[in-house]
Amino acid sequence: MEKVHEKVWNSCLAIIKDIVEWQHFKTWFDPIRPVAIHENVLTIQVPSQFFYEYLEEHYVNLLAKTLKRELGKDARLEYRIMVDSGNGKNKPLTMDVSGQGFKTYANNEMDFPLVIHNPVKNPFVIPGLKKMQVDSQLNPIYTFDSFVEGDCNRVVRRAGRTVAEKPGATSFNPLVIYGGVGLGKTHLSQAIGNEVGRLHPNKVVLYVSSEKFINQFQDHARNNAINDFIHFYQLIDVLIIDDVQFFNRAEKSQDALFSIFNHLHQSGKQLILTSDKPPKDLEGVQERLLSRFRWGLSADLQAPDYDTRMEILEKKMRNDGLDMPKEVVKYIAYNIQSNIRELEGALISLLAQSSLNKREIDLELAKKVLRNFIKTSSKEITIETIQKMVCEFFDVSYDKLLQKTRKREIVQARQITMYLAKIFTKNSLKTIGEHFGGRDHTTVIHSCQTVKDLMDTDNLFRESVIELQQKVQLAAM
Ligand code: ADP
Ligand code: MG
Repeated sequence: MEKVHEKVWNSCLAIIKDIVEWQHFKTWFDPIRPVAIHENVLTIQVPSQFFYEYLEEHYVNLLAKTLKRELGKDARLEYRIMVDSGNGKNKPLTMDVSGQGFKTYANNEMDFPLVIHNPVKNPFVIPGLKKMQVDSQLNPIYTFDSFVEGDCNRVVRRAGRTVAEKPGATSFNPLVIYGGVGLGKTHLSQAIGNEVGRLHPNKVVLYVSSEKFINQFQDHARNNAINDFIHFYQLIDVLIIDDVQFFNRAEKSQDALFSIFNHLHQSGKQLILTSDKPPKDLEGVQERLLSRFRWGLSADLQAPDYDTRMEILEKKMRNDGLDMPKEVVKYIAYNIQSNIRELEGALISLLAQSSLNKREIDLELAKKVLRNFIKTSSKEITIETIQKMVCEFFDVSYDKLLQKTRKREIVQARQITMYLAKIFTKNSLKTIGEHFGGRDHTTVIHSCQTVKDLMDTDNLFRESVIELQQKVQLAAM
């Protein structure tokens, strides 16, 4: 029979599974074992200290939310860390720690909006001079120091530094940082906030995601408290709004942002915005806002070059006290090109795999672990590549592959190509069909099915398909 702690944990997992990407779920949640429950405290066993820290850093909020659903709002999590896996007969040696971040982080998330911490009630403080205390919502790990400079980010990083030194007093107002996912927008914008906090401790800094801003606005609108909302934001000295593309079509929130923006800008306060595209390409955002976004400086973060990728990896390893062979670091930097978040993800998965399997990190392990990342990131295989490979393999011309020939070899080659395109690319059936002289998606479905059927019955056919599959796989590495 399922024990209570197992039941609770399994319910949590059921939710987590839907939220976390599969690869991450495999790496970080599969290895966890629930060991006990005592009132509102669930204890889980994790394989290592590193693992525990990783969960606390990256998943504490998710864990808190799911566990609170199961055990109520006072739910807590305790960890049991395996120090030694034991030898089969012995129980593993473990060490207990409690979930540090669990409470603060989770509560923080719920209490913000507009938290004013410890409002000082001192009759001698002249009203109006007293500075409001606001939780800046900044993550202290995002600093300039940890933000590696490279050709891809030099301009905007320097602009950011200038803004941090003289918030509101340069022409970089607003500072708009834009760029694709995982290129460092959140990191850099928070680094500016943290630096302001260091250089100008009296300035009120607030970091807020656009989603949170919009949600808060809507809550206030429901409670007829829009003025409070706007008033609060007008008291900020350095306002950082992340991912403004989410304002898309949120008309009322845009009106509020417009008032706040104008007030802050006129009072010499600093605005920092991030976006996944240049302001001119933002859809569903009012022109009057866009024109204000253009008042200051818009600068982009580009995908990092190889040297910067190497430096980011090395820095990360130094900070975390990690070590691995240079050739492995080079392998990661060489293969993961598009996005820094994936670069870090690859490093972490590799560490996790090595600690779970108690295996040294070497090139072989790196290749194995990175296969998942690489397939979806850097070397994305295109339909054209697969078509060329199949043509070469069966010695058919590219034209023939696309024409409406009914010759058996060519029909089969075409079907195999569609089948491989379905497996190895992220294209829809419709797009795949279009690459074959405008066939429709049902043809693609039919082709894939035929290939599967033939593989079951025809050995020679199966061998060809498998050989081709391996070729494509290699090209994807
Ligand atoms: P975005 O907000 O653009 O999607 P993030 O700021 O979340 O991207 O960055 C993704 C990850 O990459 C973060 O962990 C961040 O610390 C890291 N990162 C991004 N740029 C750099 C950089 N130049 N140096 C070091 N780490 C970086
Ligand atoms: Mg971000």
